[in-house]
Amino acid sequence: MRLFFAIIVCKLLRLIGKLVGKGSSLPGKYALKLCPDALGRVKLPEYIIAVTGSNGKTSTVEMIAAILRRAGKTVVYNQEGSNQIEGVTTLILCNSTLGGKMRGDVLLLESDERYARLSFRFFHPTHFVITNLYRDQLTRNGHPEWVYNAIAPAIHPDTTLVLNADDPLVSCFARDHGRVKWFGLEKCSISTADHRGMYHDGARCPVCGGKMDYDYYHYEHIGAYTCPDCGHRRRTPDFAVTDLDLAAGRLTIDGETEIALAFRSIYNVYNILAAWSVCSLAGVEKGLMASVINNYILKNGRMVQFTLGGRRGTLLTSKHENSVAYDTNLAYIRAAGTPCAVLVIVDAISRKYFTGETSWLWDIDFNQLNCQSVRQVVLCGKYVNDLALRFDFTDIPPEKIARFDTVAQAAEALRDSGEEELYVVTCFSDRDKLLSLVQLDQ
Ligand SMILES: [Zn+2]
Repeated sequence: MRLFFAIIVCKLLRLIGKLVGKGSSLPGKYALKLCPDALGRVKLPEYIIAVTGSNGKTSTVEMIAAILRRAGKTVVYNQEGSNQIEGVTTLILCNSTLGGKMRGDVLLLESDERYARLSFRFFHPTHFVITNLYRDQLTRNGHPEWVYNAIAPAIHPDTTLVLNADDPLVSCFARDHGRVKWFGLEKCSISTADHRGMYHDGARCPVCGGKMDYDYYHYEHIGAYTCPDCGHRRRTPDFAVTDLDLAAGRLTIDGETEIALAFRSIYNVYNILAAWSVCSLAGVEKGLMASVINNYILKNGRMVQFTLGGRRGTLLTSKHENSVAYDTNLAYIRAAGTPCAVLVIVDAISRKYFTGETSWLWDIDFNQLNCQSVRQVVLCGKYVNDLALRFDFTDIPPEKIARFDTVAQAAEALRDSGEEELYVVTCFSDRDKLLSLVQLDQ
């Protein structure tokens, strides 16, 4: 009976919330007050797929949904990214009958690595995909080990873990767990013998603390590792990218399926592979998966590709006042490794309210742009002086940094100044100021 009322209250509040444009966590919050174990009482679908990790959750989830839907399954997923327990509750109860049965064939959840434990107290995923765990994004949470400890209790013995074999931290989750499937990228053109990047999380074994050996690195701590002391090592993937040509935008899965990449980034490679692996485990046929993923352009609007003069450009949307989103995008640029210019725009801080508060700029690790591949950094917008001051405190050589008052001036300068790739980092409120000046890809 309590569940019945919780579902009704949740649906009603959601309806009202939609009318007044409010978020999706409040209905779940009240439903949980009425029925704290609501998630344990609802009858859930056959497949419950959760995706977590530091990077790539949203894109991976979107591709999984696209594939499963093409395969004829009804997929319920948290598209709005409300991935804490209140949001998950809203999602599940609003998609349930009053009798307490969730509609749909698949419940698909993007799960925040910090809150997974709370969401999965009353039910557990049938498949749990863990993409990667990064240090650069995790300084706020302490060390990656902290995140490991946060996720581990959320893992049920019946859950099939779908793990990135190339990440020594992610692979720790397989310890003492029976059901594990691995995905990974084999040695390829981007692999290097030496480590690149700022943080060397792979240097120490996450299991015993010993010094780790690497056959090769793909990027950062991702690669083929072995710990000589305790034997913690990269496992042979069940699903593998066996060939990768990032420059040509092409990869091959399991030696037979060739996929064209709409976004030529190593992150996209892993996201595709993760989606492929879990959909394959859910019984989707290879040809169908390939037809969906081939040249797949993400719809979440965080990445837009364009041309500006002789430059190919990628716009990476962040949220102002959210340093994690920025750090992720900066890590993306750094990992891409191709010679590039980076344009950072801070013109309006919020769409919703006026503020001139820019202290959040100091939480962003702009120092990630201090690398060989980033040839030029261009700052612009109304807050260009705040940005410039922030960049004074990075190690980026001042001669690499240019500044302009307006987006139009910056775009004009970049149009004429070279042919390297261009990455643009800005937020939803400022991105159209640039996109109106460039030629968008179809
Ligand atoms: Zn070890």
